[in-house]
Amino acid sequence: MSTHYTRPLMFIAGEWREGGDGTCTEVRDPATEQTLAQVPRASRTDLDDALEASAAAFEIWRRKPAVDRAGVLQRAANLLRERAVALGPLMTLEQGKTLAESTFEFMHAAETFDWYAAEALRANGRLMPARLPGARQMVLPQPLGPVVAFTPWNFPAALPARKMAGALAAGCTVVMKPSEETPASAIALAQALADAGLPPGALNLVFGVPAEVSTHLIRSDIIRKVTFTGSTPVGRQLARLAADGVKPCTLELGGHAPVLVFDDADLDRTVATCIQGKSRNAGQVCTSPTRFIVQQGIHDEFVRRYGEAMEQLAVGPGLDPANQMGALANTRRLQAMEELVGDALAQGGRLVAGGRRTQPRGNFWPLSLIADVPDSAKAMHVEPFGPLALVSRFSKLEDGLAEANRLPYGLAAYAFTQSAATAVAVGDELQAGGVGINSFAVSQIEAPFGGIKSSGYGNEGGREGLEAFMHPKFIHHAT
Ligand code: NAD
Repeated sequence: MSTHYTRPLMFIAGEWREGGDGTCTEVRDPATEQTLAQVPRASRTDLDDALEASAAAFEIWRRKPAVDRAGVLQRAANLLRERAVALGPLMTLEQGKTLAESTFEFMHAAETFDWYAAEALRANGRLMPARLPGARQMVLPQPLGPVVAFTPWNFPAALPARKMAGALAAGCTVVMKPSEETPASAIALAQALADAGLPPGALNLVFGVPAEVSTHLIRSDIIRKVTFTGSTPVGRQLARLAADGVKPCTLELGGHAPVLVFDDADLDRTVATCIQGKSRNAGQVCTSPTRFIVQQGIHDEFVRRYGEAMEQLAVGPGLDPANQMGALANTRRLQAMEELVGDALAQGGRLVAGGRRTQPRGNFWPLSLIADVPDSAKAMHVEPFGPLALVSRFSKLEDGLAEANRLPYGLAAYAFTQSAATAVAVGDELQAGGVGINSFAVSQIEAPFGGIKSSGYGNEGGREGLEAFMHPKFIHHAT
């Protein structure tokens, strides 16, 4: 197993380069707290070079037949699949998740490239009955232009892959700033695309001081579309910048997903699914189940069994295959866990599992369960973005739904029930971009994924993830 972490470089106009700024951001292994590398920060010249390269490449890439663009994505997918086992340790080193999760994520990125390669061939327009004899009225989908993309550290391959694949399949070019904390994963995707024959400049990767880089890139006249995944406050800031230039945005922001557990739920299956759902990526998922709103009759048994199952989960370095959950990606998350748990307990919450650091070194935090948490507790409205589950109770469906829809977020919401009528009711009434019933699998390559309310707007995934990078040009052709 290779655990050699190389110095991350920027990728501009088809060349790997050191940044011109002269300063760096440190990449740390969250399991050992050791420094892995220094990421160079872009100078203004680097950013301008990336912008110009994306503009020049757009004139080439948008004219390529869709089948040729698809070929590049397919070859990159094949390369990623061949490399996934070798790349997995790099993601685990920089992000902390288990090796199984890291390897799976590269395979998932490959499948995303494949799916959008095929979707590029289905970017169909339409022909409509004309109002004049002999005339043609048609809609021709066209790529928007160079795109600027910002991706976070929680899924350092899957999230860049979604943006790269949709944009490139549509015929757009990209300037991407992945998270400086997890650069190697996005670099591996860029290398696969370059090896697959992507023209220089069609994809550029830059790193730097996030606010400076995003301001400079979004303000550039070259950029025609902004796509961001990250927190709601940063999303708001970027949307304001984009509004100045009248640039469309896709914003995938935070969530605070409710989980309604009804009396008639299959408890064995529910507890097993909730363990998997909450431990995935150590809870650092925008769709992570957070507020467990449990019906009166099943509440005590659910809390007991969920807490017991949490205590069984092996937490430790992601490189050790015996561990089922790795380290939190950065110390900010560890501090957030300490603060949110402390506040929930001070406000009367009852600790059922976890709740404190288990190792003196490394960002390890166990799966934690707090019952009887009052709505006034911080964790009941601030996204924990970590392995923390909060339980409250309800009696009637309407009360459960009201509690589930209480927050300004609307990304994902879940319910566990064996009743078809309850499943229909929650499907209709939960205010979220995605609803899982007896399931947390609300993010699939072939389906639209996105939020409402403060969780953002626009979609990735599915054909919507291609359309996000295109505009429907109307052509009226009189003869
Ligand atoms: P943060 O808001 O500082 O950063 C989130 C991401 O945005 C990072 O990748 C960061 O590099 C980037 N970023 C920050 N400021 C930026 C700017 N001005 N321009 C462009 N990019 C910028 O928060 P954080 O401490 O890294 O993460 C904490 C919170 O972020 C979590 O509580 C969660 O709400 C949210 N988050 C959401 C997702 C998601 O998938 N929706 C992913 C990661 C983080």
